[in-house]
Amino acid sequence: MCMPSERSKKPFKACIKCKFLVNHEEQRCPNCGSDTFSDEWSGVIIILDPAKSEIAKMLGIGRPGRYALRIR
Ligand SMILES: [Zn+2]
Repeated sequence: MCMPSERSKKPFKACIKCKFLVNHEEQRCPNCGSDTFSDEWSGVIIILDPAKSEIAKMLGIGRPGRYALRIR
């Protein structure tokens, strides 16, 4: 029974729509414009060049940046 309290305090929040990771101060997702975010995400994927990334295509990512792999 020792869950670290850090768990919910992530440096970023994830856009529920496109999984883009943004700072907590951001009100809107710079990627898709959504204002719905989640702290319940895990895994980070960094897309540098979406045009050359198979993962980016798979996830439908069109913009370079940090993305969450999974959102609960
Ligand atoms: Zn988004």
